[in-house]
Amino acid sequence: MRIDPINHPLLTEKNICMDMLRLDLLHPAISGNKWFKLKYNIKQAEKEDKKTLLSFGGAYSNHLHALAFAGKKFLFKTIGIIRGEEVTNDTLSDCKKWGMELHFISRTDYRNKYETDFLYSIQEKYPEAYIIPEGANNQAGINGCKEILSGINTDNYDIITCAVGSGTTFTGLIESAIAKNQLLGFAAIKNGAYLAEEIRKNTLKQNWELLTDYHFGGFAKKNNELTDFMEDFKRMNSIELDFIYNAKMMYGLYDLARQDRLSNRGRILAIHTGGLQGNRSLF
Ligand SMILES: *Cc1c(COP(=O)(O)O)cnc(C)c1O
Repeated sequence: MRIDPINHPLLTEKNICMDMLRLDLLHPAISGNKWFKLKYNIKQAEKEDKKTLLSFGGAYSNHLHALAFAGKKFLFKTIGIIRGEEVTNDTLSDCKKWGMELHFISRTDYRNKYETDFLYSIQEKYPEAYIIPEGANNQAGINGCKEILSGINTDNYDIITCAVGSGTTFTGLIESAIAKNQLLGFAAIKNGAYLAEEIRKNTLKQNWELLTDYHFGGFAKKNNELTDFMEDFKRMNSIELDFIYNAKMMYGLYDLARQDRLSNRGRILAIHTGGLQGNRSLF
């Protein structure tokens, strides 16, 4: 997997050596962490002889986008349950083009997506379907994410970072990293502190920290400071960041560097989890 050095005068000044793991380059459609989260869910569906994959997400969901493509590639029918009023956008038209059946449900109903009764009614309605939770936030998802660092010499790094939505990817990284690695997760949502509790349910390791101050007002919220940062980053490193996850992580990392909260911690591996399809909503 490709690793690129990241350059910025601030990093040089603070004597920080930073690399980026380019999961965004994995595949044009199933990019970033989403393939890792889907891999063992798809294997399980095959094992159970299910012909349909069903999951949940918002109207710009990277997860549903990846699922729709994976379904087409591996010959599953796919169903996406989408939060909110019916809309059209680039993400959803890709999903449709790849054969996904879209169902829009109210935000109130959507809140029940983890409730047993709700899932039961969905399973009754689609008996052929293997149900994947939103963001593939389950043990199969974590197991796939344990493979993100395979092939990487983790001994080279003092810090490994990634953006956090559900915490599935971060948990997989924590579980597969070595004791020397300090893992930093950057919550992409407001009031993300509860995510630390969710992560603790799935790992006993303690060499990690969740930073919750770099959400820029909430999930998928942005301001000029963030979009300016993305442009500067692209100019300097020729790497595009998505505004929902990776731009917030990198902004946070530079901010920590500025405050000397990363000094004496040598080499950093920042994981680019992809998500660039979502940037189409910016233009
Ligand atoms: C989904 C997503 C994440 C968050 O992954 P979780 O496993 O839900 O924490 C991070 N980055 C990108 C680009 C994503 O699409």
